[in-house]
Amino acid sequence: MSEQFDLIVIGNGSAGDAIARTLGRQGKRVAVIERSHLGGECLNDGCVPSKALIHLSKRAECEGLPWDEIVARIQAVQLDVRGTDPGGGMATDGIELVWGDPEFVAPAVIRIGDRELTGHDIVVATGTEPGIPPIPGLADAAPLTNRTVFTMPERPDRLAVIGGGPIGLELGQAFRRLGSEVTIFEALERVALMEDAEVSLELTKALERRGVRIETRAAIECVTRDGGHVIISTERGTYVFDEVLVAAGRRPQIPRGLDELGLKLERRGFIDISGCGRTNLAGVWAAGDVTGKLQFTHYASYQAHHIGEHIMRGTCKPVPETLVPWAIFTDPEVGHAGLTEEQARASFCAVRSAVLRTEELDWFRTTEQTEGFVKVITEGDTGRLVGAHFVCAQASTLVGEACLAIQHRLTAADVASTVHAYPTASELFRWACARLA
Ligand SMILES: Cc1cc2nc3c(=O)[nH]c(=O)nc-3n(C[C@H](O)[C@H](O)[C@H](O)COP(=O)(O)OP(=O)(O)OC[C@H]3O[C@@H](n4cnc5c(N)ncnc54)[C@H](O)[C@@H]3O)c2cc1C
Repeated sequence: MSEQFDLIVIGNGSAGDAIARTLGRQGKRVAVIERSHLGGECLNDGCVPSKALIHLSKRAECEGLPWDEIVARIQAVQLDVRGTDPGGGMATDGIELVWGDPEFVAPAVIRIGDRELTGHDIVVATGTEPGIPPIPGLADAAPLTNRTVFTMPERPDRLAVIGGGPIGLELGQAFRRLGSEVTIFEALERVALMEDAEVSLELTKALERRGVRIETRAAIECVTRDGGHVIISTERGTYVFDEVLVAAGRRPQIPRGLDELGLKLERRGFIDISGCGRTNLAGVWAAGDVTGKLQFTHYASYQAHHIGEHIMRGTCKPVPETLVPWAIFTDPEVGHAGLTEEQARASFCAVRSAVLRTEELDWFRTTEQTEGFVKVITEGDTGRLVGAHFVCAQASTLVGEACLAIQHRLTAADVASTVHAYPTASELFRWACARLA
């Protein structure tokens, strides 16, 4: 006998949690199915352990923390963020939590263990797993990924990182701080490719000054594990490491049975959804990283909140366009809001940009953090801000104000005429805008 639910959510990451609670709190009968841990990739293998590692690596530079203590402290932070209720407080919101790996037997019907659950609506919010690039020998060399690196038994003295995106850069620098020799291999022409080119260059120089080796346009020919060593061969030479960490993209995790039911995927293999989150299967929706949109916790929960509202009301309008900022937690940090200069020039006839270096501002001088800059970009005819890119101390926080200004269509003159406290990092954005006002 099939058990009936208004909503079944598969996956308890940021996206699944937001949707389940939206409907659970409205008194709907909701089940959440999770196969591993509550909290998804962010809490268990992503944002939380990586930010804890970055923080602890800075402390270790002064205090010298051994690796096993760092691992223990990361786990303590995760426990703290997770909270004490093993059910994640879902029962309070009227949600039934079901553990296991479900299989779709029809678009509205799921089998899990000896239970059959039917949902009026079902949301797939199953996220992604680390992708392993098809480099000969890599998969057999037992590479580390974000699923294993935070619990590995020993810190490697020599670490290769494959992938120069945010995860590779953040973790690479953290291990360098802990004393590892780190080489980041990036196949493309620069690291942090989604950033403004000048930001990416500044970040590269800053990381290299701190002893991180960066190999761009790196064509890795093969990877071999030989006893305790990992050998990486490129067309430029052969390198020997103790471990290799792969941070080179993500692969969607699609629940069992959906392929057989004809679920439509987009060209990269993520679930294809309409603007409001529907898949091509009746009553089946998808949200979060598994849909291949912006892969950030804050975007997953934003998108999921809107999809949840549509399921609740039986409507289907596109998730509203919004500006989504992001940060890279390197030192210096990167904060990204809106268009890069290249994108702005491709979008508008007239574009103006200004760069203000941190060394010109008293807060950065007084705190001895004079590395980096902000670049602000306006649409030339109106003076409206369309992009702001920080690479400096506190960039992850500074980007919030820039996001607000761009989202609400402020001009550079609007920001320049707003008084900011002295001496603070926030003046950087104001005085950069003043150059375009
Ligand atoms: C190292 C790293 C650092 C990151 N740092 C940041 C950061 O600083 N800021 C930021 O915004 N984002 C960061 N991210 C990205 C962020 O983690 C994701 O964008 C976010 O977790 C996506 O949420 P989600 O709900 O879509 O999926 P997930 O968090 O991946 O959750 C999916 C859930 O579904 C479950 N699941 C999967 N398949 C099944 C199945 N068949 N049956 C049942 N359950 C299933 C999984 O166990 C998981 O719990 C980071 C990611 C990584 C890897």
